[in-house]
Amino acid sequence: MKVTKLPYNPGPAAWNAILPPDRGHPELNSHEITDWLIIGAGFAGLSAARRIQLNRPADRITILDAQRLAEGAAGRNSGFMIDLPHDLVSKDYGGGIHEDRKKIKQNRLAINIAKKMVYDLGVPKEAFQEVGKVNAAATATGIQHNLNYKTHLTHLKENFELYDAQQMKELTGTEYYLGGLFTPGTVMLQPALYIRELGNKLISKKLKIHENSPVISLIHKGRDWHAQTPKGSIITQKIIMATNGHAENFGLFKRRLIHLFTYGSMTQALTAKESTILGGKAHWGLTSADPLGTTIRKISTTSGDRIVIRNRVTYEPRMHPAPATLKRIYAKHTASFYLRFPNLKDVQMAFNWGGQLAFSLNNVPAFGETEKGLFAACCQNGLGTVNGTLQGAAAADYAMGINSKLADALCLADPPKKLLPEPITRIAANLRIRFGEFKAGAEL
Ligand SMILES: Cc1cc2nc3c(=O)[nH]c(=O)nc-3n(C[C@H](O)[C@H](O)[C@H](O)COP(=O)(O)OP(=O)(O)OC[C@H]3O[C@@H](n4cnc5c(N)ncnc54)[C@H](O)[C@@H]3O)c2cc1C
Repeated sequence: MKVTKLPYNPGPAAWNAILPPDRGHPELNSHEITDWLIIGAGFAGLSAARRIQLNRPADRITILDAQRLAEGAAGRNSGFMIDLPHDLVSKDYGGGIHEDRKKIKQNRLAINIAKKMVYDLGVPKEAFQEVGKVNAAATATGIQHNLNYKTHLTHLKENFELYDAQQMKELTGTEYYLGGLFTPGTVMLQPALYIRELGNKLISKKLKIHENSPVISLIHKGRDWHAQTPKGSIITQKIIMATNGHAENFGLFKRRLIHLFTYGSMTQALTAKESTILGGKAHWGLTSADPLGTTIRKISTTSGDRIVIRNRVTYEPRMHPAPATLKRIYAKHTASFYLRFPNLKDVQMAFNWGGQLAFSLNNVPAFGETEKGLFAACCQNGLGTVNGTLQGAAAADYAMGINSKLADALCLADPPKKLLPEPITRIAANLRIRFGEFKAGAEL
């Protein structure tokens, strides 16, 4: 199979850009034989690599990524590693009680897998903070969503705390929010630090990472797979495909993955005076009471505090948003920021960016052995920090032949449903997004 397209990421990966430069990993420029090839060094790829490293210490593992680590979606996200149900295409994040209990168990397993990697490998603790998050409501409808969510969490016997407008102001410094619902189990990632450091710490005599080494063709010859990059090649018998929506560029799950982009912006570092004007706590993370609303964080960095916002979603079957789309959305980010922080009118956005998401119509992963020796851990349905971590570990278990409840559960899931032909899917996706964003109102 010839790879039809390589990843495109608009704008800089801000989380990576604010870190000191990293030594990085060499491009592949030789012809090598390895026991395991992992394509994609995001949440799924790195979690798969760790699983194999622990269970098959003598095996050689090669990870190839088309870009530098943390420059793809894994280093561009908002860093909410959420333990509770957070179905982005639902009305209020929740589903049925039985399904949600199962989902919580899986999410917490993913968080524990990540936590163990962080502690065992010595990833800095700023990358992985177990501080919880708040579902913030800026409208009466948002408050009602939170009350529904509260009832749901009560049935699930989950801990939470309701915040009123005053508590929201004390937390965030803004009067924009009418209330919030705090849940303690979310881990807040510095996503680029997490991915970069995980990559750095995984390296061993047996495990290599090659950045800027896109696989441009993948051929199955006898028992072997031959992966070609622009300057080198790999022969292996086992591949973990951890490329999320890019799996379709390899000819896998054709017309079964919905390619969306979502967008982030990060302010310049606030001056000490601006931080005082803002007030509130040192760091916090808010998801929105409406699944299509604005996600927002305050982070403390060595250069000062920054606000990070994420909102808007576009349907991008070609995986390449137009410059006019980016311009329009970045302007909306600035507007969302000033609405929330009217007393920070001099603060500018230092970074604007977009990143790719993959969904399936039936909200399932694209998982399993698609051809002999080729194991997919793709389609994270917008929540790759947990779903990717879990799928990577499960795909590795499955490929190693390890008895694994996790892999069994994912194998039992239905495959992603086939999409309707264009332009029907495009029209339906755009209508759904536009209507959802319209309904989100001031939560956006
Ligand atoms: C702005 C934004 C905010 C988000 N916020 C959150 C959040 O708060 N919480 C959450 O859970 N999720 C969030 N997400 C989604 C999350 O980032 C993704 O779901 C996650 O990164 C998917 O993980 P992954 O490992 O499956 O794939 P990716 O992280 O996309 O990694 C796949 C890798 O494959 C590589 N690749 C692709 N093609 C090739 C090729 N031909 N050869 C070699 N390598 C290749 C890519 O370069 C990439 O590095 C957000 C996404 C964005 C864009």
